[in-house]
Amino acid sequence: MQQRSKQEYHVSLIVQKFGGSSVADAESIKRVAKRIVETRKAGNEVVVAVSAMGDTTDELLDLAGQVAPIPAPREMDMLLSAGERISMALLAMAIESLGHDARSFTGSQAGMITDATHGSARIVDVTPVRLREALDEGAIVIVAGFQGFNRDTKDITTLGRGGSDTTAVALAAALKADVCEIYTDVDGIFSADPRLVPKAHKIDRITSEEMLELAANGAKVLYIRAVEYARRHGVTLHVRSSFNNNEGTIVYNPTDAEPFGPATVAGSQAQAARAADAGQEGSEGAVEEPMIAGVATDLSEAKITVVGVPDIPGKAAQIFTIVAKTGANIDMIVQNVSAASTGLTDISFTLPKSEGQLVLTALRAEQSDVGFTALQYDDQIGKLALVGAGMRTNAGVSAKLFTALFEAGINIEMISTSEIRISVVTRADTINDALRVVHTAFGLDAAEEAVVHAGTGR
Ligand code: ADP
Ligand code: ASP
Ligand code: MG
Repeated sequence: MQQRSKQEYHVSLIVQKFGGSSVADAESIKRVAKRIVETRKAGNEVVVAVSAMGDTTDELLDLAGQVAPIPAPREMDMLLSAGERISMALLAMAIESLGHDARSFTGSQAGMITDATHGSARIVDVTPVRLREALDEGAIVIVAGFQGFNRDTKDITTLGRGGSDTTAVALAAALKADVCEIYTDVDGIFSADPRLVPKAHKIDRITSEEMLELAANGAKVLYIRAVEYARRHGVTLHVRSSFNNNEGTIVYNPTDAEPFGPATVAGSQAQAARAADAGQEGSEGAVEEPMIAGVATDLSEAKITVVGVPDIPGKAAQIFTIVAKTGANIDMIVQNVSAASTGLTDISFTLPKSEGQLVLTALRAEQSDVGFTALQYDDQIGKLALVGAGMRTNAGVSAKLFTALFEAGINIEMISTSEIRISVVTRADTINDALRVVHTAFGLDAAEEAVVHAGTGR
């Protein structure tokens, strides 16, 4: 008898994550169950991370707000983690009714160990012992996304909004999965949010570095911490639609030994795509990445201006030490040239609106010590970020961006850059126009409109 190669015996382990819009109702859950079963039938081991149904998390947040002005963080996590428990059990039932063994696990049962920070806990360890056992017994494993457990407090935690992506990636890393598939309501990662830019085009593959910048700047299709985690642990991500079988977007790290993952479905397809591209370029392997990957916008930030700061050494340090003590995540910082007559300057910075009041209060308390004149708070700003690894070697990107905004009559209030990103702040009510003109100016428009299959965009 012919000897089989080792490769033929290789069973792939695939982690699949289904977002809220993919499991919004009973019909959707049954559709997703079928899809999971197909993957299992193809001979793979399957671990699924699932989000709460539809807008459940938002609805639970609204409910909490109606019973308490500032809900206790511990109870909030108890409440929100319930959303994912509902969908995991329903999904397991739907799979069972298709004749396959499925077992659901909460985050703590799955061994998602986190720090004790309620609302934005970080994963510190993953001990998927029970999952491995269930897989060995031939079951399909379903894990509630977005939640974990702290060993010291013995309490349930949640990972922050969009955190089911991180659950999936952490499971993929811990179980050494061949690929982590993120199923959502669009066909992959686009050059801009297709809800805002119908002519956005789907990206076939994107570097994790670029995806990190897009995620950090408002592209919620992937949660930033999930991208970071995947990059650190060498997990290949495949973002795709749960509504069709189209190829999605591969998020890869070009410095990994196997940037597209081992020879699995997604990996080999990505490799084929890359080879095809190389053919088009005429030189295999030497594919020039496009200059711009995409554009993201963010309306969740505000701007604080510290007015009349004495222009002497140590003042910026003093201000940002006060800000740092609040734990706020500041983003852009701009210091104006001081007026010679007064020797005073203004310092502006952006931060999440949710942290605005905290930082204002902290600064106000130290006003006389720092010696500034006043504080201004502006929550009507929008941030736009243009991202592309090709920017490193391309002059003139800023000029093109500023010209496009100027021609559309959009005023730029702040600018910041990194090696692969340029960000600008504009008025909030001009941000969607800004997004579309920039998208067009950089030649990113597709011939056809993108399809958004479901979800409310909430
Ligand atoms: P899920 O419920 O599957 O987690 P999310 O709502 O978190 O889905 O993320 C998918 C949504 O992300 C899309 O419907 C889209 O509106 C939005 N989005 C924002 N930026 C992008 C982008 N660059 N590419 C694709 N989708 C994007
Ligand atoms: N259900 C959580 C949220 O809505 C986590 C997730 O969907 O990823 O943020
Ligand atoms: Mg999401």
